[in-house]
Amino acid sequence: MNQTDTEQKIVILGAGPTGLGAAYRLQELGYRNWAIYERNNYVGGLATSFVDDAGFTYDIGGHVMFSHYPYFDDLVDKLLGDNYTEIMREAWVWIMDRFVPYPFQNNISYLPKEIVLECVLGLIEAQKNPDALKRAQNFDDLIDAQFGAGIAKYFMKPYNFKVWAHPVSHMSRDWLGERVAMPNLERILGNIILDKADKGWGPNNKFKYPLYGGTGGLYQPFVKYIRDHLHLDKTAVTIDQHAKQIHFSDGEIVDYDLLLSTMPLDLLVTRLDNPPDTVRDAIKGLHHSSGLIVGVGIQRPCPSEKCWLYFPEDHAPFYRVTYLSNYSPYIVPDPDNNFLLLSETSYSPHKEEDKATIIDRVIEGFLNTGLIEPADLDRIETTYLIDVDYSYPVPTLDRNAALGTIQPYLSDHQIYSRGRFGAWQYEIGNMDHSVMQGVEWVNRWLLNEPEVTWNDFSHHAAPVNGTIHGTLGHGQITSRRYPYSVKTANGYVD
Ligand SMILES: Cc1cc2nc3c(=O)[nH]c(=O)nc-3n(C[C@H](O)[C@H](O)[C@H](O)COP(=O)(O)OP(=O)(O)OC[C@H]3O[C@@H](n4cnc5c(N)ncnc54)[C@H](O)[C@@H]3O)c2cc1C
Repeated sequence: MNQTDTEQKIVILGAGPTGLGAAYRLQELGYRNWAIYERNNYVGGLATSFVDDAGFTYDIGGHVMFSHYPYFDDLVDKLLGDNYTEIMREAWVWIMDRFVPYPFQNNISYLPKEIVLECVLGLIEAQKNPDALKRAQNFDDLIDAQFGAGIAKYFMKPYNFKVWAHPVSHMSRDWLGERVAMPNLERILGNIILDKADKGWGPNNKFKYPLYGGTGGLYQPFVKYIRDHLHLDKTAVTIDQHAKQIHFSDGEIVDYDLLLSTMPLDLLVTRLDNPPDTVRDAIKGLHHSSGLIVGVGIQRPCPSEKCWLYFPEDHAPFYRVTYLSNYSPYIVPDPDNNFLLLSETSYSPHKEEDKATIIDRVIEGFLNTGLIEPADLDRIETTYLIDVDYSYPVPTLDRNAALGTIQPYLSDHQIYSRGRFGAWQYEIGNMDHSVMQGVEWVNRWLLNEPEVTWNDFSHHAAPVNGTIHGTLGHGQITSRRYPYSVKTANGYVD
């Protein structure tokens, strides 16, 4: 008997980092009866990169490779070999017409003196009242209780609204972990009095970046390991969880025993065959932001060694800009004479953005914040717009109950939803987490090991109230001609 006759058929939906991690692990363990289906004609998902006609490479927003796992590190070494750059984190906040090193709260000494005083007094006041921190019901309360009124007003609240495109009062307080540096009053006062820059926070002080092909350059090499099982241009339109069959848009029907889905969880539920009302209703508790990623290629040497910048204020639409050409010399056609700025602007029903004017507004924002000078307007060589429908899974107050209702129903039907939007858990939504969610899911089935990254919220299952905020469609890249001598490129992505 053929080995595949005795193995359960494993099907993976989506060839982003999660699906690729699972696929790689299946072949590494010598499993045979599996297949991976991807609706795009390329792999990589949100970690894909695109090259335009002018030869500039764009990531879908600045991607910094964090790592929390030896397995992931080894995999990156294997996939990239020597083809990577290693970059020291140089992150800054643009505020009050100046650059402040990140994390903002440790570097308030860079601000005007009266603002420094306001921030410090707010912090002292907050720290006098530790009960407020314990009582904090949501991210809004937590910001006030932890950072005090000044830092909350100038940075934490406006910045977080710009990123998440959701009111911070709708967000839970539980997801923070290492994502937000908690303020240490002694350290902050020391930095102020000694006039010291304090950049040494976080897991991402130094990071690797693929030498070739942008962030996508890490995911392309997966293909040679999984080629025989990979099916591109295959969009799953319905999933019959009772018959254990996937129906693709080209009419093909594929059977599975176990299904690993990495598509957005809310879309997965809408594609099931008549799921219970409780499950269908629970997707109202899943909220996401969308993003407009605008890249601008400029014809002059890069004026800065910075990596990325945060923008809490209103004079620019974006919340973050990356000097992507500082990550690898192959991002631009001629690194001695070009640089590439990549901006990210979020949107949602809570924060609408006019897509028709976003490129102009981003360029105006670059001028307002000193990233480019007026003479650069004539040096703009190319612009590129990526409209990302599913950008950030927002950790809202109703999320865990929604997950606790949906995921057990799926797993009862041998469907396992993992990854950035499959698990819908921002706190495990980076590339390393995503790859490892795929790897660990395979380890669970083949090696009987627990999944350690993915959080099971089944104990949160509860009636879910709330309204649906997201759009349930597919995103698309759009591009248009900018009224200078600009080349554009087209593509399509989630
Ligand atoms: C703006 C932005 C900035 C980011 N910055 C960072 C960063 O700095 N560091 C970091 O580590 N990570 C970052 N990330 C996160 C990173 O991109 C994700 O961790 C990763 O791409 C998630 O992988 P995934 O496979 O779970 O999901 P995805 O990448 O979304 O892949 C899912 C795949 O499923 C496919 N699919 C969807 N529906 C169907 C269907 N019906 N049929 C078949 N296939 C389907 C999609 O086409 C896609 O290829 C960022 C993401 C964004 C959007």
